[in-house]
Amino acid sequence: MNADVVTRPLMPLLESLYPICRSITGDGVRETLRLVGEQIPLEITEVASGTPVFDWTVPDEWNVKDAYIADRSGRRVVDFKNSNLHLLNYSVLFEGEVSREELDEHLFSMPEQPDLIPYRTSYYARNWGFCVSQHQRDKMTDDAYHVHIDTTLRPGHLTFGECVVAGREKNEVLLYTHVCHPSLANDNLTGIAVAAEVARRLLEGAQPRYTYRIVFGPGTIGSITWLSRNQRRLADISHGLVIGLLGDAAPHTYKQSRSGAAEIDSVAGYVLTQRGDGNRIIGFSPYGYDERQFGSPGINLPVGRLTRSENGGYPEYHSSGDDLSIVSENRLQVSVEVVTEILQTLDRNRYFVNLEPCCEPQLGKRGLYRSTGGEHIRDRENGMLWLLNQSDGSNSLLDIAQASGIPFDNIAAVAAELVEAGLLADRDTKDGDSL
Ligand code: ZN
Repeated sequence: MNADVVTRPLMPLLESLYPICRSITGDGVRETLRLVGEQIPLEITEVASGTPVFDWTVPDEWNVKDAYIADRSGRRVVDFKNSNLHLLNYSVLFEGEVSREELDEHLFSMPEQPDLIPYRTSYYARNWGFCVSQHQRDKMTDDAYHVHIDTTLRPGHLTFGECVVAGREKNEVLLYTHVCHPSLANDNLTGIAVAAEVARRLLEGAQPRYTYRIVFGPGTIGSITWLSRNQRRLADISHGLVIGLLGDAAPHTYKQSRSGAAEIDSVAGYVLTQRGDGNRIIGFSPYGYDERQFGSPGINLPVGRLTRSENGGYPEYHSSGDDLSIVSENRLQVSVEVVTEILQTLDRNRYFVNLEPCCEPQLGKRGLYRSTGGEHIRDRENGMLWLLNQSDGSNSLLDIAQASGIPFDNIAAVAAELVEAGLLADRDTKDGDSL
C-alpha cells in the first residue's frame, strides 16, 4: 500500500454515471459496471433470475424503454426522459387511458418538499407508477390521462462486479458498495467512485498484506446473492466495510459491526477520532445498507459501515435533490483518504510477541538508543518500552498506540525496528515461519 499514489479527480466518473437508470437488475447496472471497469479491472458475475439465495430468489430482470404520462392533447406532462426518477423503479408495463382519480393511486410525491421528485421502488410487489413533484401533481387537473410505460420484466440476470487486489495473505478485507440507485448522486454514486478509487490506489501501491475484494453490487438482494454464492469464502474474510454516501457535507460516520468489538471497529474508530472533524461513531443496528446482511446472525462477519450522513440523514435523501450539486470533489477526496487510512491501519495492525520478555532487554547493546533527543526520539524510545512491555501476543499495535498515546504510524515504525533487531516476532509466525 502506498499513500503517495496520486488521487485522480472523481467527479468525471460521477458525471458519466449520473444519467444512467439503474435498478437491482438490468442494463443500467451493466453499463455502470462497464464504466467502473474502465477505471479498474472488474470481474463481472451474472446470476440467473429464479436462483434461490438464502430465503430470497433472484428476481426477474427489469429494463425500461420509455415511460410518460400525456394529456388528451398528447403533451407529455411527466416524462421518464426528463428524469429516470419519474418512473417507479421496477414498474410493470402499462398502456392506457386512466381517470385522474385512478392515476392518483399510482402517483408518488412529497408534499413537505414540493419541488423534489421522490425515489420510490416496487421490486417485489408488481405495480406501476410515477414519481412527481408535488407542484407537478397539483397541476394535473384534467379528467383523464394517457399512461405509457414500456418496460420489460422477465427472466434475465442480476449483475455484480468485483475487483480483487491480491495481498501477501489469503485473508481478505471486503469492501461493498451498492450500485442500484438511478440518478442519485450522494446515494449511491459517491460510494461507487470512492470504492473504485480506493481499489485503483491499492492496485498501484506496494502489495498489501491482506487480499482486498471490492464488490460493486445491488443493495440488499445483491449482497444476499453475493453471500449466498461465496459461502465457502466467508471464513477468509477478516474485516469488511460497507461504504456509501461519501460526498455530502456531513462529517464521516462509522457504524460499528454487529459485535461492536471487531478489529475494524477499533481501527475505524481510531482513524475517525484521530482525524477529528466532528466524525461520529455509532453502534450497530439492523437497519441501513448491506451491513445488515453481513451482520445477520448466520453470517456474522466483522463488517462496519462508513458514510458521511446516515441513510435518511440529509434533506435531499432519496429524491431528485440528491444531484451532483450536493457532492464535491474535495469531500470525495477526503473520503478516499479516510477509507485508505482505515485500510492501511488494518493492514499494518499486527500482534507481536517480545522474544526477550524476562525484564527489559538491553537496548543500548543492540544500538537501539539514539544519542540525540527531541520529541520524535522520545516517542521512539517510549514506543520501544511500550511495545516490549505490551507485546505478549494479546495486544495489537493499535492497542499499544492507544494505551501509550503515541501515534499508530510511529508505533508501527518502531515495531519494525524491534523486529529487525530480533526483539519482536509476529504472534502468528514466531515459531519459525518467515514474516
Ligand atoms: Zn439509498
